[in-house]
Amino acid sequence: MKEWMTRGFSNEHAHLDKGMLYTFLPYKDEPVPIRAEWTRQAKAAFTKQDIYDRAEKALQTMLAYGTRYVRTHVDVDPLVGLKGVEALLELKERYEDRIVIDLTAFAQEGFDRFPQSEALLLEALRMGKMGVGGHTLADGDGEAHIDRVLSIAEAGGAEWAEFHTDESGRPEHFLLPYLATAAEKRGWGGRCYAIHCNSLANVTEKEAEEAIELVSRSGLHVTVCPTAIATRALAPVKKLRKAGVRVGLGSDNIGDFFNPYGSGNMLHYAQLLAYVQRFYEPEESEYLVGLLLQEPAHAESAAKTDKLEIRYRYDNGTARELIAHAKAPRAFTPLREGALGYE
Ligand SMILES: [Zn+2]
Repeated sequence: MKEWMTRGFSNEHAHLDKGMLYTFLPYKDEPVPIRAEWTRQAKAAFTKQDIYDRAEKALQTMLAYGTRYVRTHVDVDPLVGLKGVEALLELKERYEDRIVIDLTAFAQEGFDRFPQSEALLLEALRMGKMGVGGHTLADGDGEAHIDRVLSIAEAGGAEWAEFHTDESGRPEHFLLPYLATAAEKRGWGGRCYAIHCNSLANVTEKEAEEAIELVSRSGLHVTVCPTAIATRALAPVKKLRKAGVRVGLGSDNIGDFFNPYGSGNMLHYAQLLAYVQRFYEPEESEYLVGLLLQEPAHAESAAKTDKLEIRYRYDNGTARELIAHAKAPRAFTPLREGALGYE
């Protein structure tokens, strides 16, 4: 069997700070608002050490599956304060020889209920180079939320902005066209990520086409998290690809009240997407593995991942085999004497 060597995979969306939450409460399949409330309660009880420990556990599984880059959201609001950012900045530094971790300070709870989040986000942006994140469903007025987060990004000198976009999948929540237009107008198109974009799958064909055209023109990146199919629709990746949109794949939650599973194995997520949207042809399998191998869009992060001196070896030789078996790498190879491997 042909051996295959890789530099490792990219996970373009995770929530390391809220990983492994089953330590607080076992998963129960209650409606979303109830599970969101459990998350808020858990979050209010977080300590910096506890966030660090759970995030490290999630990170260890990602490393065991050959991940070299992860961009993680970190909740920033009056419930948890800046504890998550502090913990994740420490984790980022501790593991910098093995994996590049990018942070996005995230207004998960919105500003309607927690207006103090704005000052905290600006404070987070002063703690290190990072992005800022919003959620188009977090506030009553989604357009105002987008504008506010982009203004925070500008005022705080964020490296990029990300939005959980149209996560419900409902046509009436369709804000992707507004986001693409607003980001382009402010010159943030190429520094902006739209995560999920599930409503694209449920609006009319014409609306989807026009939105994808806008996304493509604005330079907005789209991040798809295939586990979202469990309760919602998935953005049409083949159409995005055809329009030349940069697509990234993410694990999203790992072991919390929204996803009790989540291995951190990027090949699992590629496999799920392959089944749901029929990426079956050899060239399509290669496209999916290519998504996992692509450089981060952020130039500084790409340069850092280039410098990582670890290679992962797999038994499976082709993209089809990699996706079919989704195995962990057989071994990793430090490229120089004394370089760190995962523990
Ligand atoms: Zn997410």
